[in-house]
Amino acid sequence: TERTLILVKPDGVARGLIGKIIDRIETKGYVIEALDLRTASQETLAAHYAEHEGKPFYQPLVDLMSSGPLVAIVASGEGVIKGWRSLAGTTDPTTAAPGTIRGDFGRDWGTAVQQNLVHGSDSPESAEREIAIWFPEA
Ligand code: ATP
Repeated sequence: TERTLILVKPDGVARGLIGKIIDRIETKGYVIEALDLRTASQETLAAHYAEHEGKPFYQPLVDLMSSGPLVAIVASGEGVIKGWRSLAGTTDPTTAAPGTIRGDFGRDWGTAVQQNLVHGSDSPESAEREIAIWFPEA
């Protein structure tokens, strides 16, 4: 079955939302294949966000992502890549739909980077690339 890389970003961990976010993954019926609380290294973040290097929000994004522990998760299930992004909601939490994680729990705006609580791979290629970065043994 399909796999995806999910992150509960440091803003989600700091706000005490790990449990609620994992609940959404499991309630939907996705299977957690790997899960780890860790503080991401600069190397990991540079690899993960290589496509954004040079953009104005890149450094604020790396700073946010290294500001504290995050939870890295590999989840599997039919259609999990699109399904998880749909559960997460659109990038900007101020306009994300109610019922989505970002719509229900996200509240930060006007900052240099969107503090939008979670990440999810956006394609099968991204998922395999990102899983190899965060869980090289998987
Ligand atoms: P989505 O693809 O749904 O937007 P994502 O997490 O995959 O979510 P990316 O486009 O990969 O988003 O961007 C990575 C992260 O960088 C975002 O989740 C957000 O935290 C931040 N970000 C992206 N675009 C902007 C922006 N224009 N201004 C501020 N922060 C941004």
